[in-house]
Amino acid sequence: MIFLDHNAGAPPHPVVRERLRGLLERFDWANPSSPHSAGRAAKEIVEEARERVARSVGSSPTQMTFTSGATESNAAALRHWSGQSRNARTIVCTPVEHPSVADALHRLEREGWVLRRAPVDRRGGIPPDWIETALDGDVAFAVCMSANNETGATHPWRDWARECGRTGIPLHVDATQSWGREVFGVQGIRGSVAWSGHKVGALSGAGALWLSETRGFSGLAEGGPQERGRRAGTESVLAIAALGEAARLVEAGPHWLEWSDWREILWQAVAGIPGVSRTVDADRALPNTLHLGLPIRAETAVMRLDLEGVAVSAGSACASGSMRPSPVLLAMGWSESEAARGIRLSVGHAVDEEGVERAAEVLLRVLTK
Ligand code: PMP
Repeated sequence: MIFLDHNAGAPPHPVVRERLRGLLERFDWANPSSPHSAGRAAKEIVEEARERVARSVGSSPTQMTFTSGATESNAAALRHWSGQSRNARTIVCTPVEHPSVADALHRLEREGWVLRRAPVDRRGGIPPDWIETALDGDVAFAVCMSANNETGATHPWRDWARECGRTGIPLHVDATQSWGREVFGVQGIRGSVAWSGHKVGALSGAGALWLSETRGFSGLAEGGPQERGRRAGTESVLAIAALGEAARLVEAGPHWLEWSDWREILWQAVAGIPGVSRTVDADRALPNTLHLGLPIRAETAVMRLDLEGVAVSAGSACASGSMRPSPVLLAMGWSESEAARGIRLSVGHAVDEEGVERAAEVLLRVLTK
């Protein structure tokens, strides 16, 4: 299998596997809240991971809370910021957020909040200066994902951070797809940031939430003092250790420069095929992601590629499981029939250049059949 679906979830990185094997075979640990030595051993694993994750984004460990993944981090952040607002009832956001943010925003809208959505063009672009006129006294907080999981389009979140900082409005950034795929740091953000483990070679079921100011934050569930009272429930020690190990890989970047070369190999293979278009230009996309509009249905292409041993995705994993046209592509102004012809190829650590070159040949064959 040539794996070109890293944005949906990448297999554990070999370095992470090695660490986990070592922990499973040679180490005894228990509940990190227990005061005995087995508990303390667990706590040490968790705190070491926290330091690594924090270091990889230029934060202090005390600002970093472990969660079950970016879905929980996003949900907890949105609940926090909506709960903090006294009178303001407007949320500034993008119309192309991941469902874990988009659905929470829709719920808030049903509860009476007003969503002020940024314009987005057919290529996933959001005008960087839009935010300069979008913030006023009615705005409680803003939400901007750093880069889109489906199209790979990068967003002007730095402009949003600057303007939000200037006006004192909290900003939540879903940085799940940027961590380990491009330079990303929390410097300059006043608000919160979400990440997930399984995009970077750690395990699914663990992620992190960064808060510039942790006071008053209590997380989603009640009943436990874990994570300094910010997240109840016994920590998933192994998944957190994996996250810490992956953070070291993130810090060791920029491996993504090589990934952008691979992405271009894939694009060059199909660029001349009639009816194939590139959704986001190279300099506006995540280095690892190539989104294409095809002359055939995406499901057909995904199936044919799968039969030839190449894993890609039609839309995001979440949207493709539902067989609905991607809400992200619809928000970008694509028709339903165009949206049904969009596919995503995302490279990463579970593939190599040779695999990418073979995939490029297969792609050409499948799309010209
Ligand atoms: N946000 C983005 C941008 C994502 O790509 C994903 C995963 N598809 C999530 C949030 C959810 O992450 P998790 O699976 O860890 O809950």
